[in-house]
Amino acid sequence: YLTGPLGSLFEAVGVIRQGSGAVHRINEALSWPPEREGEVVPPQEPSRESRTLLEFQDVRFAYEPGRPVLHDVSFEVPRHGHVAIIGPSGAGKSTVFALIERFYDPDGGRILFDGHDVRRLDRGRYRSLIGLVEQDCPMLYGTLRDNLAYAVPDADPEDLDGVIALSGLSDLVERLPEGLDTPVGERGAALSGGERQRVAIARALLAKPRLLLLDEPASHLDADSEMALRRTLLRLSRECALIVIAHRLTTVRAASSIVVLREGRVTATGTHEHLMGHDAYYRGLVSEWLGHQRARGMSWT
Ligand code: ADP
Ligand code: MG
Repeated sequence: YLTGPLGSLFEAVGVIRQGSGAVHRINEALSWPPEREGEVVPPQEPSRESRTLLEFQDVRFAYEPGRPVLHDVSFEVPRHGHVAIIGPSGAGKSTVFALIERFYDPDGGRILFDGHDVRRLDRGRYRSLIGLVEQDCPMLYGTLRDNLAYAVPDADPEDLDGVIALSGLSDLVERLPEGLDTPVGERGAALSGGERQRVAIARALLAKPRLLLLDEPASHLDADSEMALRRTLLRLSRECALIVIAHRLTTVRAASSIVVLREGRVTATGTHEHLMGHDAYYRGLVSEWLGHQRARGMSWT
């Protein structure tokens, strides 16, 4: 359906983004302090040479000495790539996100963003290029608009409309009695878990990240929310690269590449088809997920 009216909407969103991107860059050029020695300012726009946006090269990490959590973890996220990370609880998935966010630095190996070792990047600027949607997405007291725009209060109305459409929230906005100005905080309209998650995605997109990290809740969404999230994820790869810690077949199937992480090691990488043919652990997970889907009357795989 991307060639229909929605397709042209996304074209328009692209044009708006380009337009405001230019203004954004001028503002940045005026307000950024000069580079400190040894620091590289990560570019808002991708460098032409690099096909890869983010790369883990043999990353080792321990929170406590002698208790390694990641062992030589390597994987790549192409520009506009969409990678799913899967694996059991405690495997180190959230730790991968913490390292990307630079809450910690690796003990060995390195993480490259757009070809630069992230330790050499200005931390604030680098973080501003990464959007994070955490497992639970609490709503702030206030309206839907407040909840979307608090990180970017001066967002263009067109940008706001763009991220609402991208995140699959247009129906919700139409349904709410006062649209964007409906209170949705604790005492306002109750949003479903899936809606809160898509609000958190829209909020992150408003800051125009180059990479979006989504830590999916392990608990089940209802089937409609699950499909809405899947459609949102499929649209997002036009906007930015995406890494999703995934717990459901629908989200995993939206990814173009899957990283299997077990006990801090990447035990397999590839497309769904590849892993179905080559990885017994993945095949086992898929039949488990298919069992859940059948139990909930979902036929889609
Ligand atoms: P996952 O997200 O795959 O469930 P995590 O990355 O959260 O796994 O955790 C990986 C391992 O690191 C686990 O053994 C966990 O107990 C440990 N761990 C996570 N966070 C911390 C921390 N802040 N301090 C010490 N150990 C931690
Ligand atoms: Mg986790």
